[in-house]
Amino acid sequence: MSEITGLKPSALWKHFEEICKIPHGSDNEKAIGEYVIAQAKKLGLAWQKDKTGNVVVRMTASAGKEKAAGAVLQGHLDMVNEKNSDIKHDFLKDPIKPVIRNGWVQAEGTTLGADNGIGVAAGLAVMETPELSHGPLEFLFTVSEETGLDGARTIGPTALQGRILLNLDSEEEGTFTIGCAGGADSHISIPLARKAGKAKAGFRLKIMGLRGGHSGVNIHEGRGNAIKLLARVLWQANAKYPFALLKMEGGNKHNAIPREAIAEFLLEPAKIKAFSIFVQTACDKIKAEFKTVEPGLQFSLEPFEPSAKLLPMTPKAQKTLLDFLLACPHGVLGMHAELKGLVETSTNLAILRTLKDKATVLCSSRSSAASALEGVRNGLKAVADLTGARIKQPEGYPAWTPNMGSALLQTMKGIYKQAFGREPVIGAIHAGLECGIIGEKFPGMDMISFGPNLQNPHSPDERVEIASVERFWTLIVATLKALAG
Ligand SMILES: [Zn+2]
Repeated sequence: MSEITGLKPSALWKHFEEICKIPHGSDNEKAIGEYVIAQAKKLGLAWQKDKTGNVVVRMTASAGKEKAAGAVLQGHLDMVNEKNSDIKHDFLKDPIKPVIRNGWVQAEGTTLGADNGIGVAAGLAVMETPELSHGPLEFLFTVSEETGLDGARTIGPTALQGRILLNLDSEEEGTFTIGCAGGADSHISIPLARKAGKAKAGFRLKIMGLRGGHSGVNIHEGRGNAIKLLARVLWQANAKYPFALLKMEGGNKHNAIPREAIAEFLLEPAKIKAFSIFVQTACDKIKAEFKTVEPGLQFSLEPFEPSAKLLPMTPKAQKTLLDFLLACPHGVLGMHAELKGLVETSTNLAILRTLKDKATVLCSSRSSAASALEGVRNGLKAVADLTGARIKQPEGYPAWTPNMGSALLQTMKGIYKQAFGREPVIGAIHAGLECGIIGEKFPGMDMISFGPNLQNPHSPDERVEIASVERFWTLIVATLKALAG
């Protein structure tokens, strides 16, 4: 018997322990899906599996509650597979081994999969606990959440009847999440003319040592964007000391704030000294500006041997590129008016590359208000138009706009206060959640996301607090009862 078996609520932990035995990383959810279906079959419940692997289980209301509004309990089947390098673990074969440490459950050197195994186990526990009072229920188990909400995207328009949804995939007990950002990328392409000039000495200006971070989670912290800072220095220098850009690049991922950027250019030998002094002064001013937020920020200017094959940009092309980078927005563009501290709208100038005949820029924008997201993207298009650039703006993922007047929110706030003697925290996140996609597919869906205390998800330090799982369960049971009337 394992340590987990004795924990309460026992039905939930029993399923969690079984889930741990089934490898279920993203794109490998077949077996865990079969496990869910086997539970439904055992209980005589109707179930459906779609082409992608999402599973819906239906359960009729408890006696006398048939007229209650239908509710959906939702979690995702997949987990992130991560392990410490000194651990031998085959995520396609080996079970996760949950252990108890100081009131928390964790795995040994791997991710635990409490994200979202605890949510899935809670759904399965609700199915098999006959004494619960509830209206008609649906259980939605999605696949490939961790790869970009891919499973939720394929849910059919008739998959769900209920219009109340409890998403069981949050990480802070006592916090109700009622909104998330939508997001979309813009791909900008700026034409670059190149032509040989007088300048011959190669120099490389590098900016590094920035903190970077996630463009949703860290965008409000005022961290430096390496591309923007490099562009600021070069834009200033360009007005006074003609240099000829060969190359400029920075950033790697659409959802990361760029940590490093580099520019290579040619200078006329007579201008080297004055240019170096000017750049040094400009860099020192930026270092002073960011001394608290970016203590590791460094600039380096050093000579290098340029290849004769790559011609420098023409002065006009170079000015256009630098103008674009300066005018292109980056950072927080708006805070939410009611949810304190929530970034409503932001944009990340994420990646810059210069090729032979064009520069490419990727900007990734987010907002919990669809109209604001559209506004930012239109702004990017306007900057692109002004600089003669081309822009492609593929469809992104939808926002879940916070609804402070939600009936579900009022109900659950009351339940929480009654059960635990304190107010829940109401919040939203500046990143994507499955609720954004589900809400768009099923208009009018009243949704809340909540969960137990879960730390360090997606890392081998992932752990879930046992006492908070019990409170999470209490809240689910009381909410279902209240919704049943
Ligand atoms: Zn999750």
